[in-house]
Parts: sequence; structure tokens; C-alpha cells
Amino acid sequence: MLSILHLFRIGIGPSSSHTVGPMRIARRFVAALAEAGKLGDVRRVAIELQGSLALTGVGHGSVNACVLGLMGLEPDSVDPDAVPALLAEAGAGEIRLLGTQPVPFDRGRDIVLACEVVPELHPNGMRLRAYGEDAAPLADETWYSTGGGFIASARQLAAPSADDLVASPVRAALPYASGAELLQLCETHDRDIAAVVLANEAVWRPEAETLAGIDRLLAAMRACIDRGLTQEGHLPGGLQVRRRAPELWRKLTAAPANEAEALMDRLNLFAMAVNEENAAGGRVVTAPTNGAAGIIPAVLRQYCSDGERAQDQARRFLLTAGGIGILYKQRASISGAEMGCQGEVGVACSMAAAGLAAVWGGTPQQVAAAAEIGMEHNLGLTCDPVGGLVQIPCIERNAIGAVKAVNAARLALHSHEVGKVSLDQVIETMRQTGIDMSSKYKETSLGGLAVNVAAC
Ligand code: SF4
Repeated sequence: MLSILHLFRIGIGPSSSHTVGPMRIARRFVAALAEAGKLGDVRRVAIELQGSLALTGVGHGSVNACVLGLMGLEPDSVDPDAVPALLAEAGAGEIRLLGTQPVPFDRGRDIVLACEVVPELHPNGMRLRAYGEDAAPLADETWYSTGGGFIASARQLAAPSADDLVASPVRAALPYASGAELLQLCETHDRDIAAVVLANEAVWRPEAETLAGIDRLLAAMRACIDRGLTQEGHLPGGLQVRRRAPELWRKLTAAPANEAEALMDRLNLFAMAVNEENAAGGRVVTAPTNGAAGIIPAVLRQYCSDGERAQDQARRFLLTAGGIGILYKQRASISGAEMGCQGEVGVACSMAAAGLAAVWGGTPQQVAAAAEIGMEHNLGLTCDPVGGLVQIPCIERNAIGAVKAVNAARLALHSHEVGKVSLDQVIETMRQTGIDMSSKYKETSLGGLAVNVAAC
């Protein structure tokens, strides 16, 4: 079993697969050199970004992420406000690997966008090389950023049982590999989905630490919305996309709309606040990816932020949503480069619908039905970001996804029959649709809006 604390990660924008993953890979590469006692011998490093990482790497911040990773910085602890100065430091002809070993560095020469290379095992490939005196090779590794900030070496992807460095070596208390098995566990042990997921987290750490980790995630999500509601101006990247969340927030607080309209306005603006922060390279939580990071926090903010039980409900929401997200990660993929946007916004919508249905008191069957509905009506959703930036359609798409998640939870709670489509069937349908989808619509910016909307 995966841990939900690996699925939800605190990181920086704009992309979990193209920013967080490459940063982790670059850091891991130099850390391994240090562990092997070779870091002091390094005279040059070279990174080749392949496939989707090359095609949308500039807009998605992949090159900058590699630079930061080589410097030894980590996505969950780097201060987003300090990033411009750190990048400027590495732009002066030298980089300090892992913060210690100075080597000559020219980002145009040493980090190459190899658009022509089609990676073998996953669309997001990275080849990293280190050289010593007289260009003697010290290390040559290929890694993959597999979505949501997860990473895997070529060896690990070729042997899936060791995927992503996060498979637990210990058997979880209540393991499940499908929605059907999850529901069976709920029935057998008379527990809800959140309780099953919490029991499984015990494999990784004591319960108090898991709950503290969830509380940190919730705090980071709230802080991201709060910051996004106050930051004005245009987003970086050249598209001249203006941040809209602060203005919407001002309008809503000055002259509240009627209840139904205000609900949609609030979901829209909370989701957009997060995704505008993400697009600006701010601090966000992968939920389950950066591109889809606004949906879960928006629904949480709307339904789990008031009252004495708010924190308990928010924990229950995240445990349930995480339990559903693990199914998508294990049975299909949460990578836009593999599945299109159905694997990011679609999965986030499904997870949020499940979390909300649980908070509203739904049975495990109704929670699974909410997750199923949340995905069913996102099937086929393509990824075609304009200019390779995580802005259009991503920001509005999260707003739409948040509203859709609430509707999916409502539909599920009003139904007391077993649905015709199961959660497992819809996950498998998403997987097959992702495989069949043209690569033009899988985070390459070679089709769809990306070619029909001028990027400047
Ligand atoms: S279109 Fe969807 S999958 Fe593609 S970058 Fe935007 S949010 Fe991510």
C-alpha cells in the first residue's frame, strides 16, 4: 500500500510531475554521489529532459526545478519567495552541488530539452550524468517523474513491485487493491473508508504522527488559499493571465450573491486562488497533483472550516479522498503525461467527491459512488496547456472540477441503489482512455487549446 502522506505532498508550483518530481530527482542524484563519496570529484553535471518534460518543461518550470534540486533544495522546504535569488546565484557560471561542491555551470549547456527523445518507460524521462577530471564519467542514471511528485528510477519502473520508492516493506493492516476490496473491508470490519485508510497508515508511522501530518497538509492548503486571495497582478510566463481570485473575493464579501450563486462563487474562487498560487510557483499541496491542486482545498474550505468538528471532518475528508486517490495511483496513473487531464483534474474531482460524501455521512457504497461519478464525467478530458504553462485551461478547470465534485457527492447521496458503473470500472476506463489518447493531448502542448490559442 502507498501512504496518503506520499500522495499529498507539500511542494512548490507550478507542476508536481514537471517541477516537484524533477527537483526531487536532481537532488537525489547529487545526494547519491555524496553518499558514494564522489561529490568532491565532480567537475560537471549534465541533465537531459526527455518527452513531456522537454516539450512543456520551460512553462512548467522543469529547468529551474533541476537547478534547485542540484543545489540540494527540496520542494517541501524551499522558500518560494527565495527561489528567484537562488536561481540567480546559479546563473553566474557556477553551481554549488548539494550546497557545497562548486562546479562550472551553464544552464543552457548543462540542462538540455531533448524534445526528440521518446522515453522508454514513462513520458517524463530524465537522464542525469556527472563527470570528473578530464570528463571521466562518474555517474549516468535515467529517472522518471511519474506524476504527483512521485519518482522512480529506470530499474524501479522495469520492476514495478519496487515502484516509486514508497511501497511499504511491511504489509498494511487492511490492504486493498481495488474499490471492491475496499468496500468489502469496510463491511467485514464495520468501518468506514477513512478508518480503513487510517489503520493502513500505521504501517508507516504511529497514528498521532499520521494525524499531525494530515493537519500540516490541511494548514498548507488553507494558507495557500489565504495567500491566493490577496495576491494581485499577472502570472509569470508571458501569457499575461491576470489573477482573478482577489477581485472575486472582494466582490463576494462586498455584495454577497444569493445562496446558490454564492456557493459556486466561493468554490470557484477558492480553487482559483490555489491554482493561481501554483502557477506563480507558490507553496501548494499535490492533491493529487499540482495542476489539480485547487479542487480538494476548495471543497474542504467550503464544507469543513466552521464549527467545533471542522478539524475532525477535514481529517476524515482527506483520509477518504486519499484512500480513493491511492486506487487511481495503483490501478492507473495520476500523470497528465500518461492519462491527460482526466488523470489529474478528473482524479482530484473523484477524490473530493468521495471526501465530501464521507463528511456528509454517506455509506462506504455512497462514497465509492461519489468517486465514480466524479470521474465518469471527466473521462476523456485532455491536457493541452497553452504555452506549456499551468494556467489555461488549468486554473478555471479546477474551479469547474470543485463544483462538479460537490454535485457528484449530492448525486451519490441521493441514490440508495448499487450503481450500474462501479468505481473499479471507471478507473479502468480512465486507464484505457488514457492509453488510447493521442500524445498530442497528454501534457505535450502539441494539440487542443495549445495550438488554437495564441501563446502571447
Ligand atoms: S490541462 Fe490538466 S493535466 Fe494538463 S497541466 Fe493543466 S491541470 Fe495539469
